[in-house]
Amino acid sequence: MARYRFIEVASSVYAWDMHDEGVDSVLDNLQDLSHVNSVYLIALMHKERHPWPNDTFFPHNPIRREYMTEDSVAYWQPDFNRYDGIRPAVPGNFLAGQDWLELLVDRAKTRGLKVGVELSHTMLGSDRLAAEYPDVRQIDIFGKPLATTHIGENHFVPCMNNPDFRRYVQQLFCEVSERYPIDYVLNCIMPFPLPAKYLLTEYEEEMEPWAWITRSPVGSGCFCPSCVKRAKEAGFDLLKARDGLLKLAEYEGGTPALKDTNISPMELLLEHREFMDWLEFKCMSVTSFYEELNTALKRVRPDIDNRMNVYITSHSEYAGFRVSKVAKHFDSMRACVYTENLGTGLTEKKRKVLMSLRKTLGKDYHILSAIGVLPGSTPDSVREGIRVSAECGAQSIALGHYDGATLDMLRAVGEAVETE
Ligand SMILES: [Zn+2]
Repeated sequence: MARYRFIEVASSVYAWDMHDEGVDSVLDNLQDLSHVNSVYLIALMHKERHPWPNDTFFPHNPIRREYMTEDSVAYWQPDFNRYDGIRPAVPGNFLAGQDWLELLVDRAKTRGLKVGVELSHTMLGSDRLAAEYPDVRQIDIFGKPLATTHIGENHFVPCMNNPDFRRYVQQLFCEVSERYPIDYVLNCIMPFPLPAKYLLTEYEEEMEPWAWITRSPVGSGCFCPSCVKRAKEAGFDLLKARDGLLKLAEYEGGTPALKDTNISPMELLLEHREFMDWLEFKCMSVTSFYEELNTALKRVRPDIDNRMNVYITSHSEYAGFRVSKVAKHFDSMRACVYTENLGTGLTEKKRKVLMSLRKTLGKDYHILSAIGVLPGSTPDSVREGIRVSAECGAQSIALGHYDGATLDMLRAVGEAVETE
């Protein structure tokens, strides 16, 4: 069968993989079965039950059948002297007391592999946010701490416009990049959450365009003092806009629903110009967060590959994430479209995302296409995902996630790829 040539065949690794299977056993599997030449530790992980994304069990873990991660703890041993405000949390269970990043870097470098670090989604646990840093939380349109359903139930999330949070994230990325000889960092920070229904609809029914407009103000925006201040600096009155956005939201959940009226979505937008200004403000907030982070990171490690995990691939502008705006603040992007576990019929979704990313980023931008070696995937769907990635010009692929991958899936990767 055809083999596809990639610069990198990367794979994520978790601390529990290394603890339970042994780091050499994990790396042996990834290298021998999948021809992986790049590994990265998810060194700070949001709360999530594994294997993700469904309720199956670990296929090759000799110690446990499933694992619920501790919320946003660091799997390296942080130097707390480096943090002058918010401090990272460390594990309180069987993963405590070991520097998992040091261990992975050491073993992977010996094997000649590229090594990286991913920091994922929240950076700060929901309970710590409530107890220690309540002012860092996002505030919803009603003035209450925003509790998103994207990470379990009612999870508080930090605001990207909060200066203490910005500084903390910069210190996290700078610490791992300065203290460990890693080649890349992968940024998977959640921007502004999307409307609650989004996750259910991403691969199923699409929400109608007007529903995005009426649903967004509730559950997917921040109105905290830091946001109000930053908006004011940009010439945008966020509190005034909030009044208009609340009226807009009444069409959804209130009476009457927009679909029951004679008002066209376009007319609604003309009536509520603040909606587009607000969307623009969200995008500006997220872009400036990445810009500052990249500047801080390159100051300490000019050579590091600052990589973005593009995991919101539909309607990401509602989260404040626009690829065209943020691209110059990163060196490469991982297109996170897991379709392998959803049946081959959805591989075209992967193609669409990859092609639109390529169109936006230009032909030379380094794109890594995520391949879902996940519960529900099959060797065939994995091969299909790799083929589509190659056809769309992805220079590299990145597997997610080793803990839930059967050895057959890992073998399918190895049979389909070769590295440069
Ligand atoms: Zn805010």
